[in-house]
Amino acid sequence: GPSPPPASSTESEPSKEPANCPQEEEKDERWPHGDYNSPYNYSRRDNEFKSPGSGYSSCTHSWSKHWSPKETSRNEDKPTGVGAGLENLGNTCFINAVLQCFTHTVPFVLGLRSLNHHEKPCDRDMESFCLLCALRDHIELSLHSSGGVVSPTKIFDNLNYFSSFFQRYQQEDAHEFLQCLLDRLESCCSKLKNDLTSIDDCLVKKVFGGRLVSRLCCCNCGHVSSTYEPLNDLSLEIEDADSLLTALESFTKVEKIEDLELNFRCENCKEQVSVEKQLMLDQAPSVATFHLKRFKTEGTYIEKIDKHVDFPLELDLQPYAVGNERNNVSVATIYKIT
Ligand SMILES: [Zn+2]
Ligand SMILES: [Zn+2]
Repeated sequence: GPSPPPASSTESEPSKEPANCPQEEEKDERWPHGDYNSPYNYSRRDNEFKSPGSGYSSCTHSWSKHWSPKETSRNEDKPTGVGAGLENLGNTCFINAVLQCFTHTVPFVLGLRSLNHHEKPCDRDMESFCLLCALRDHIELSLHSSGGVVSPTKIFDNLNYFSSFFQRYQQEDAHEFLQCLLDRLESCCSKLKNDLTSIDDCLVKKVFGGRLVSRLCCCNCGHVSSTYEPLNDLSLEIEDADSLLTALESFTKVEKIEDLELNFRCENCKEQVSVEKQLMLDQAPSVATFHLKRFKTEGTYIEKIDKHVDFPLELDLQPYAVGNERNNVSVATIYKIT
């Protein structure tokens, strides 16, 4: 209902108002964030991305950050306002949680509004469901119904559009849904493209896209080879981590690979060598999404890692990134979804 959120945040409650935040100062730009003491929703993940029976719960933290000042504007500092609470239509928390995050992610909302969409015939006419229209309609309705309740029926009724593995009225995984949704959005964006636009104009890439670099260093001659991988979110192991920071530290720590059976041959010294491997952020996304892996598999047995994972209200991504752009890194935690 529309009552003020108590200690635990669920999808049916409106997001918290940003606490007294003066938008003039970058440092104080703070977005509504859920109470991180709230119990995480348990959800199942068993579709095509994982072998049957395995699973994770997802808890995604997102950050709005100023990695590159030229990409930000005054507008993006302004909160969207508080959207409506979302009705649970029967185990739809995984949809609602993601929709609430989208509704309150300013660069995403602005990007969606500015898409050159209505000048073309849209899928709504051809296939009766258009994701861009559905999302935009939902977000605008929600933002205009602050204090009220909105039902995400359009998206719920078209769950099959995202993945045939999603079943109505079943518990599904929010991170899984987020990935399918971003995937679908990317295809929608590419449909909108004409010759003048580039990949950079894709809304998903612009808002959530970043890049990882994997660096292999030869222990014999020091030669480094790098491979790059685009990302929309980062999945982090939390078994040995009690905070987001330690999870990120462990994600980016140097790992020595000495197994000669892997037969790693250095392209520089041509020797069979051990290597040191490290993953780092190469390009940080505007809005970073972290997925905490709350499930571990022991054979066929799945165990939930049901512990509190702390996170700071401000996160400096610099220690986990290559390059030296410290001055441009200022990050505010904005919310989590469960
Ligand atoms: Zn449309
Ligand atoms: Zn070498």
